Amino acid sequence: MQYEAVIGLEIHAQLLTESKMFCGCPTKFGAEPNTQTCPVCVGLPGVLPVINKRAIEYVVKTGLALNCEITQYSRFARKNYFYPDLPKGYQISQYELPLCRGGYLEIALNGRRKKIRLTRIHLEEDAGKNIHEGGDYSLVDLNRAGVPLMEIVTEPDIRSAQEAAEFMRRLRMILRYLGVCDGNMEQGSLRCDANVSVRPAGQEGFGVKTEIKNMNSFKFIEKALEYEINRQIRLLSKGEKIVQETRLWDAKRGITESMRSKEEAHDYRYFPEPDLMPVEIDEGWLNEIRAQIVELPDARMERFIKEYNLPEDDARLLTEERAMADWFEEAVRLGGHPKTVANWMMGELLRLLNKDGIQIEDSKVKPAQLVGLLSLIDRDVISGKIAKTVFEEMYQTGREAEVIVKEKGLLQITDTEEIERIVEDILNNNPKEVERFRAGEQKLLGFFVGQVMKATKGKANPRIVNELLRKKLSA
Ligand SMILES: [Zn+2]
Repeated sequence: MQYEAVIGLEIHAQLLTESKMFCGCPTKFGAEPNTQTCPVCVGLPGVLPVINKRAIEYVVKTGLALNCEITQYSRFARKNYFYPDLPKGYQISQYELPLCRGGYLEIALNGRRKKIRLTRIHLEEDAGKNIHEGGDYSLVDLNRAGVPLMEIVTEPDIRSAQEAAEFMRRLRMILRYLGVCDGNMEQGSLRCDANVSVRPAGQEGFGVKTEIKNMNSFKFIEKALEYEINRQIRLLSKGEKIVQETRLWDAKRGITESMRSKEEAHDYRYFPEPDLMPVEIDEGWLNEIRAQIVELPDARMERFIKEYNLPEDDARLLTEERAMADWFEEAVRLGGHPKTVANWMMGELLRLLNKDGIQIEDSKVKPAQLVGLLSLIDRDVISGKIAKTVFEEMYQTGREAEVIVKEKGLLQITDTEEIERIVEDILNNNPKEVERFRAGEQKLLGFFVGQVMKATKGKANPRIVNELLRKKLSA
């Protein structure tokens, strides 16, 4: 029998606010354990939470970018459960009135476009972190407790592990463009759980689902879902039943493992949070937030193709990251030819950045400096070949191309007389090759060019070299 997978995702994205959701503690990653806490986020009795306005704006911004309906009157709810990383004994979340409802995200896979519908986006607080170092105890770090967390829930529209991974890639790109989440999956600021079931192809109803947790990279999402889909198909084919449960992805062993039976919503005893006022978003505020939304990757890619005449692949690559697209546009604004700038970015710049694991925003070479280098090539001050060496030096030191060229004596030789002298030397020293060339072996021209370049350490202007050689050899 043919089976079909049905997948829905629940994504948790830590918001890039300076302070936590309901108190003023900082949210920086990697601080000493329990140094970013206060009576509110460690859950001492008698304290009162205060809503972080910026967090609301980030969720609404995301909702608008993902075509959601914004709930103009929403409220927070208590989700009750006990776990050592949750000192209050409940998490402040949203239940029946989330900030955003509906919406969709379009993905493209193998040339096919598909809309994945969203159920909702709500705002909640993150829990702390349990640290198991071995021994007969565990430690709790509450720095993360109370960090604003946006939960994005999709409809069960995803049909394969590849679609799920592609959805996450697109979503991450948009969240980073909006500046609401840094998308760092390794550090856990973007996390993804999946509900997976399989059913005979063509069947309407859903099968029993399992929830997969702990997938912290695109690669693991694909692997974990593939494993789980196959596991369920195997069981059903043998006539066995799927148990509704939560399973953990074990990346080392490449399998999912049963963790606990899945809770139902009624297990959490949700009720409206009595310590917080409902959130009202009027038209004025909504418009203010709408005005902050930047041009998103798809639109920017289309514009790059139209406005700069770039091939689609170039436009796609350059718009994957907002910082990269900004870098490109700044270079073009300063006078760089679009396709030339694109080539240098996708070639030399990305190669060096990737090699060192550096983000483009931290690059020492700035757009103005690349444009400076390109202008040296255009004006025949240096050759294209020397330019690569100069660029590496610019990348290492952040200095201007012109300074490097002068200091290292890399100026291109455009003095025709000087080149002529060198050309004559080369021809005199290679009489046999000259004879063969004149007898019709045209490809020897490359040999002569190479000799001149070697003699000038690559600094001779290739156009002049070619002209002079042709002239002398046909004489
Ligand atoms: Zn706090």
